[in-house]
Amino acid sequence: MAATERRDALRAVWEEARGCVRCPPLADARTQVVFGAGNADADLMFVGEAPGANEDRIGRPFVGQAGKLLDRLLAEIGLERESVFIANVLKCRPPGNRDPLPVEIENCSGYLRRQVELIEPRVVCTLGNFATKLLRGDPTGITRLRGQAEVRVLGPRAVRLYPLLHPAAALYTPAMLETLRGDFARIPELLAEPVPEQPAAQEEADAVPAPELAAEETREAGEGAPPAQAPPQLGLF
Ligand code: URA
Repeated sequence: MAATERRDALRAVWEEARGCVRCPPLADARTQVVFGAGNADADLMFVGEAPGANEDRIGRPFVGQAGKLLDRLLAEIGLERESVFIANVLKCRPPGNRDPLPVEIENCSGYLRRQVELIEPRVVCTLGNFATKLLRGDPTGITRLRGQAEVRVLGPRAVRLYPLLHPAAALYTPAMLETLRGDFARIPELLAEPVPEQPAAQEEADAVPAPELAAEETREAGEGAPPAQAPPQLGLF
């Protein structure tokens, strides 16, 4: 897909997400939708859990302490935030930073599915349990899976899925930080690997995407009012 086409398509998904009211309690409580930000042509994508208070206020993912750590870990492997795309399972902040509910994950999954489909990353790092379980379509937890890359078909494409501990979990636990740092160190290797073999064209046409990421196909977009804020920016590079 041409770069401009990709950006236009992502922008269209953002426009839809900005007014989403599929989860009324989240729509009521949020300052704004945190769609995700970064390089629309990124080879590397990160998927976190949900916006927190800072992200809700600023409108970008990972802008608090966990985000600073993410930036540091990226810098240690020679990358900067602007070269990757960062998104979350939920695009709205759960009130009080509670865990995302299954129905919220389901309601929001179509946005993430379309982000992955449009950005076409080679490597998708899931940060923590929620993203890992959603994108693997399996309840196995992050403690067992972290650091183990595997090829997974997400929607129409195969990607290298690489589950990592959530940076927030590593903030105050030095052992976890070292584990996360060690796992991050392998990202350049994964990016250097060939693009995984893609599903055959016919299989692709017949494919039923992973249920967690396929749920939104027929849903209508929400029509809530855009946030009464300074004009929000998508933060696409
Ligand atoms: N934690 C997340 O999972 N996502 C954010 O955007 C910020 C903190």
